[in-house]
Amino acid sequence: TTFADLGLSPELLRALDEAGYQTPTPIQAQAIPHVLMARDLLGCAQTGTGKTAGFVLPMIEVLSAGRARARMPRSLILEPTRELAAQVAENFEKYGKYHRFTHALLIGGESMDDQIKKLDRGVDVLIATPGRLLDQFERGNILMSDIKMLVVDECDRMLDMGFIPDIEKIVARIPQQRQTLMFSATLPPEIRRLADKFLMFPKEVAV
Ligand code: AMP
Repeated sequence: TTFADLGLSPELLRALDEAGYQTPTPIQAQAIPHVLMARDLLGCAQTGTGKTAGFVLPMIEVLSAGRARARMPRSLILEPTRELAAQVAENFEKYGKYHRFTHALLIGGESMDDQIKKLDRGVDVLIATPGRLLDQFERGNILMSDIKMLVVDECDRMLDMGFIPDIEKIVARIPQQRQTLMFSATLPPEIRRLADKFLMFPKEVAV
């Protein structure tokens, strides 16, 4: 399988070529076509398998049509830690350089005012840790009514860190008419239950 076989656009193929990627990893080969078909996905994959590009690449394709309005992101990626969130943002910079879209990090330890300024300018992809996202939402600085795509990454770590109640609160505010992707290295019963609740007829991919 090549990246072109997966249905990615010439702009992305060029960015991937420049990143030195030759072939998709197994999780990418399995996940990307389903995400491009707007299906929900449950991906059982660890860090290091290339799972990030598995959701970032199709998300860039989906977002290339349209533009975010002030305080209304069009997609949301939840990460358990600031470091992981920052890594995802780097992926958007690397792969998205020939696309016009904006992304922002919403993580603890950064100035709330700077985050609000960015949100006001309109952000297509919001990459957030659950606590900070809820905080900004509760202050009225984010509207979640335009979110069409949601990624809950590292679900088992979210569970270990006690973030599941926050995630449930956040997801309850996102329109049900959306595409949802969940990734987890393991699938304990709590994560299964969450997947049953958040995902509609998901494709399951394990690597
Ligand atoms: P991840 O599992 O998403 O954290 O990715 C692990 C590492 O693999 C990252 O440094 C990526 O830049 C790299 N990577 C992801 N996909 C590919 C690919 N198809 N070919 C080569 N390297 C890749």
